[in-house]
Amino acid sequence: MNVCDSGKILHLFADQDYQLTSDSRSADLIVINTCSVREKPELKLFSALGRYIPLKRRRPELVIAVGGCVAQQWGDKLLERCPGLDVVFGTHQLDSLPQLVAAARLSRKPVSSTDFLARPGGLEVMARPTPAAVSAMVTIMQGCDNFCSYCIVPYVRGREYSRSSDAIIEEVRKLAEAGIKEVMLLGQNVNSYGLKASGEISFAELLGRIQEINGIERIRFTTSHPKDMSDELISAFAALSKLCPYLHLPLQAGSDAVLKRMGRGYTAASYLEKVEKLRRIVPEIALTTDIIVGFPGESEADFLQTLTMLKKVGYDQIYSFKYSVRPGTRAADYDDIVADEEKRDRLARCQALQDEISQAILLAQVGKIAEVLVTGPSKRGASEWSGRTPESRIVNFSAPTKIVVGDLCRVKVIEAYKHSLKGEVVADAGS
Ligand code: SAH
Ligand code: SF4
Repeated sequence: MNVCDSGKILHLFADQDYQLTSDSRSADLIVINTCSVREKPELKLFSALGRYIPLKRRRPELVIAVGGCVAQQWGDKLLERCPGLDVVFGTHQLDSLPQLVAAARLSRKPVSSTDFLARPGGLEVMARPTPAAVSAMVTIMQGCDNFCSYCIVPYVRGREYSRSSDAIIEEVRKLAEAGIKEVMLLGQNVNSYGLKASGEISFAELLGRIQEINGIERIRFTTSHPKDMSDELISAFAALSKLCPYLHLPLQAGSDAVLKRMGRGYTAASYLEKVEKLRRIVPEIALTTDIIVGFPGESEADFLQTLTMLKKVGYDQIYSFKYSVRPGTRAADYDDIVADEEKRDRLARCQALQDEISQAILLAQVGKIAEVLVTGPSKRGASEWSGRTPESRIVNFSAPTKIVVGDLCRVKVIEAYKHSLKGEVVADAGS
């Protein structure tokens, strides 16, 4: 989501004749887009500011802006804490950033704007697809009303707000006209899209309308909340040919006691039921998930249930984190803290098990033929191409015939590496 917001910021400033540079010493403007889901990214902001603010001694015209979740949380106080910082913009002010930068430049005084609005600004700004991109992200909603006990998102992104389906369809149409083949629909909890806006269509219906857009070959979305994974949405995986057999379904923990304290609204058994339903409809579906280890009160037995779930579900990949206390959340007041050493140990065990599972899944692909959407040359060298299967597995492959980015190729998988597959082209899809 932050990558998408950064794309929107690039778009806004490209319209103002700014150009992107990788050299911070020659920049007129540095925008830092932040995340505060865990503590570490917050610390990264302060070290980045420590590097960039001194650049103003040589270039007094340099303007430095900080946005995103950390900016939202700190507001004005960030300006006090970091003298030399010019602009603080909140998660609802993304579209006003050019004006805030201009105001700071003109007045030579720091400015801050972090109020929550009834309708978050920036939702209608299109993220600028990188040149030659085949895939683009489209924000369909912002904010979250779930208030999981560990999570800061509802506090820094505000209440859940869905964009109108017409605006989303229009944006996807424009992307298709610009050559985009794959769209990734984004929201903190896409399954509840439209439910709180009167007369709006459901998320599954939105997917159905995007399916009809010519030029779009693949549809993906993230993130889904297991409690809101409706039968209608599960059925969409079978009904919509462009909807990729891939789902990120954050589990967080395998123990019902921990899930309850997290306020997730499902049990391990009800999660598994949804996974089974999905697999009955789309047997090849690839699943990924998020895991938090060391949540307050998580015993060794609780943790082992998370490992059991990893084995039962068989995820392609997991994103796993040590629990990090977020000030102001309910869990910040929970006692029964798990020691950091224990968290580290659980994280390592969780990742070691997942490495084995991921490896087995990749190995099982060897010999199969996959449809690969070509995203560019492989990192290994110009003679190889790279792309993704519908299940989002990365395949690097050689091709004897001419290929261009955006092609859909039929590729035979010949080898499995740690995080990717190697293959060779069989023939173009459809030929
Ligand atoms: N809306 C998504 C997730 C948003 S945050 C969802 O409901 O799943 C992305 C991930 O960060 C979460 O899934 C969770 O695994 C992790 N996360 C959130 N708060 C955290 C915390 N306090 N400590 C550690 N990980 C956290
Ligand atoms: Fe955070 Fe829960 Fe909302 Fe996801 S659903 S953003 S974890 S509060």
